[in-house]
Amino acid sequence: MKMFASLGFVFAALSLASCVPVQQVSNRNKVLLVSFDGFRWNYDQDVDTPNLDTMAAEGVKAQYMTPAFITITSPCHFTLLTGRYIENHGVIHNMWFNTSTGMRLPYYSTQGVDSWWDNGSLPIWITAQRQGLKTGSIYFPGGKAKYHGEEVNMKLVEPPVFNYSNETNWRSNIDTVIEWFTVNNLDFIALYFGEPDSTGHKYGPESAERKKIIAQVDRTVGYLRQRIRESGLESSLNVIITSDHGMETVLKTNEIHIGAISNFSFKDLQFELLDYGPVGLLLPKEGKLEHVYSLLKDSHPKLHVYKKEELPTRLHYANHSRITPLVLYGDPGYVIHGRYKVQFNKGEHGFDNDAMNMKTIFRAVGPAFKKGLVVKPFESVNVYALLCELLGIVPEPHDGSLETMKPMLPSEFQAALPEMCGEMRKDMSHEDNQPRPQRIAQSS
Ligand SMILES: [Zn+2]
Repeated sequence: MKMFASLGFVFAALSLASCVPVQQVSNRNKVLLVSFDGFRWNYDQDVDTPNLDTMAAEGVKAQYMTPAFITITSPCHFTLLTGRYIENHGVIHNMWFNTSTGMRLPYYSTQGVDSWWDNGSLPIWITAQRQGLKTGSIYFPGGKAKYHGEEVNMKLVEPPVFNYSNETNWRSNIDTVIEWFTVNNLDFIALYFGEPDSTGHKYGPESAERKKIIAQVDRTVGYLRQRIRESGLESSLNVIITSDHGMETVLKTNEIHIGAISNFSFKDLQFELLDYGPVGLLLPKEGKLEHVYSLLKDSHPKLHVYKKEELPTRLHYANHSRITPLVLYGDPGYVIHGRYKVQFNKGEHGFDNDAMNMKTIFRAVGPAFKKGLVVKPFESVNVYALLCELLGIVPEPHDGSLETMKPMLPSEFQAALPEMCGEMRKDMSHEDNQPRPQRIAQSS
């Protein structure tokens, strides 16, 4: 992967050489990362979205963004925060589980299991704080956990029982974001909304209810941008609006029912994680792997069954000890039922990230972004590199490429630099992956 010296560092270093205006250095840009869970890439195409449209006209919009596989909430959000594929960051499911005891925890409880999250890859909050920045999280997956004993500076955590769609709460969280940027002078905040995911699950992605919640998302984007203008943050705050995955209509015919497959027995399994959308994780008992594999493989035309090491490498969902020896997933629309039928959602995600209905959105606006630009699709592993660049921090090792994201950034940053600094700029651009000197003249 190729790293570039951050703009912040370029300006800082050049100011040492007295060749760029000092004000560029003293005023670090802030970043707000917003996720609207389950916002499919084309949800704005059948609903009036004036605020999202204005944001696109004033900033950058990707045709769509490809999430990581498996396309579920915690794993995909942790890819945004770390720039790593799921097999590399290890948050492989929304549910913590233990294959020895059979224990598993739901999404909400798993948010509080530090060891599930703190497992080798640092989220950007911690990296930024170690480099002198101040950060915040509002409801963002991964924001509750401690990493090497460190946690995000300021946070709001979702209450256990919570109405995801309460617009008053959404506005209150935006007001908190503005306060944290202006009063507490945070540099980076990650803000999470549980919609349109909840509505997409309950009513399906093609429903009138989903269109209604997209209109609410759009009003919220309008409110956010209005509050940014009112608080004087517009010239210093970069806003990215993205999501973790899309949404697919669940098909109710020819369903995949593992318990009904002939000769298959749950007695041959030591552990199973089924009934969670289209993905299943199975650990057969000792000596039973081949037996279970041969029974399940080709048992249903819409079911994919893989030994983990044989999963297509493009999915990046094999190389982690937490991933069980057998991985199952259904074709788009087909969820996997286990012992009993307990899944009744009309919409679901978790499917192959190649499927168009799993693609999601990426929008950005602010002083660092070009205006009115539509960029080609890219993978979500690349967002982390962009966030680090915008914040002027040195990234941890990651799987993304800043080069992919550079077309969004105006070239005049580099072009505007005086001739005499060219040599120094060239030198610094070769410092890929090298630690950089401490930044100077920080604003906070
Ligand atoms: Zn989600």
